[in-house]
Amino acid sequence: MAVQHVPADLPERIQHFIDGEFVDSLDGATFEVLEPVSNQPYLEASSGKRADIDRAVSAARKAFDEGPWPGMLPRERARVLNRIADIVETRNERLAELETFDTGLPITQALGQAKRAAENFRFFADLIVAQADDTYKVPGKQVNYVNRKPKGVAGLITPWNTPFMLESWKLAPALASGCTVVLKPAEFTPLSAGLWPDIFREAGVPDGVFNIVNGLGEDAGDALVKHTDVQLISFTGESDTGKLIFANAAPTLKGLSMELGGKSPAVVFADADLDAAIDSTVFGVFSLNGERCTAGSRILVERPVYDEFVRRYVERAENVRVGDPHDPATEVGALVHPEHHEKVVGYIELGKTEAKLAAGGGRPQGLESGNYVQPTVFVDVPPTARIFQEEIFGPVVAITPFDTDEEALELANGVKYGLAAYVWTSDLERAHNLGQRVEAGMVWLNSHNVRDLRTPFGGVKASGLGHEGGYRSLDFYSDQQAVHISLAPVHTPKFGA
Ligand code: NAD
Repeated sequence: MAVQHVPADLPERIQHFIDGEFVDSLDGATFEVLEPVSNQPYLEASSGKRADIDRAVSAARKAFDEGPWPGMLPRERARVLNRIADIVETRNERLAELETFDTGLPITQALGQAKRAAENFRFFADLIVAQADDTYKVPGKQVNYVNRKPKGVAGLITPWNTPFMLESWKLAPALASGCTVVLKPAEFTPLSAGLWPDIFREAGVPDGVFNIVNGLGEDAGDALVKHTDVQLISFTGESDTGKLIFANAAPTLKGLSMELGGKSPAVVFADADLDAAIDSTVFGVFSLNGERCTAGSRILVERPVYDEFVRRYVERAENVRVGDPHDPATEVGALVHPEHHEKVVGYIELGKTEAKLAAGGGRPQGLESGNYVQPTVFVDVPPTARIFQEEIFGPVVAITPFDTDEEALELANGVKYGLAAYVWTSDLERAHNLGQRVEAGMVWLNSHNVRDLRTPFGGVKASGLGHEGGYRSLDFYSDQQAVHISLAPVHTPKFGA
């Protein structure tokens, strides 16, 4: 089989971008990138190692120490960020096309992600200008103020789900704060990151401020984490990778932000608006191909409406349109990579031995090759099942009944993750009571996944460390030095006088 959809003007290969130039790896190494719908290699990407990371970090360090970027006024950097947003907006369709080609994400959803990437730059441009300097008056004619300084070189390590958008979620606050950066994109999906250099150049980001090293996690990612000249790592990916990075960053005491995996519960009470709960829980687990960190992939349903909920949910899941991600009618496209497809199919086969399969469970008809799976629903899933406990990261959902509020809470909290939670009920007291006790960084009550970018984004337990969003992101990329001045003669106790 040949590559199915070749976008026009595809680059011949994907290179690193260091100090304003596209370059190959110093040892010339490359890795193959596959198209998800055909699983055929469509191009080679440079495979960075320690020496390439050294080169990128020293360019970023030089730009930080000698270049204009860290010392520019916030409103000057904001102007550049706004230009980036404008350029991203003019290239939305191209971006979405490349993202769909590289990740298998349905085109309409890829377009939404490209728009969000522009919004991230605009948001952090506004925020850095609005950020107030903290000044405190202290009795005795003292003034204290906080001197915010960019931390230095930021290492950004990103996953393959919605890669361009997630890169923008780190790049925008890092650059707004005045850091210089080295980005290590996910090796399954390096294509869209290759668009940043031209966008940044056109917007006026100086050479060396932004660098990309492609490569495998254990090579390029590992070298970035261990580098002595990198002051912080913002990482999004699996919880196990997060643990490794935590250990590997310890000897150099770096700042760490970890956005990790999830197995989020959606709790549906009998008094909920079932139509709204079904719309949200179907979308929540099957949009973005189920490759969504905040997917509500465990649905807990109160017994009196369990049978009705399951019947209606299964009907909807069976009607979800799986197909070519380039077709605007497609709702679930192809999973990102054959390795990931194998993992998801493995969980589906396991699920058949652990619970009752109610929908899907195989390859969609007519899609005999490529990384396709049917939207899959397991019901009566016991909380001990691995498909209840472990992150599958595909269009697979586990539905479990409950009888009391306490049982719902116990089931919701009974996994190692704590990223998001969703509660559906018409009783607001109940919603808040459960919402506040559930172990999750983010809770949506009768609502889903819509949020103001100023709110904290992040997880608890195995789902993460630290929160991004709003001023929390700017704080992460900044040092806050306290400066104390006296405005009157100082009367220090005269020791030894
Ligand atoms: P992953 O952990 O396999 O890889 C993520 C990135 O880390 C990649 O760039 C990879 O090359 C790099 N990496 C791997 N090993 C490394 C190492 N030893 N040192 C340094 N870098 C290393 O994750 P993935 O499979 O790409 O992404 C899917 C995961 O990401 C899921 O668990 C998902 O829930 C999670 N995720 C979380 C959020 C969130 O905000 N919480 C958002 C999106 C995705």
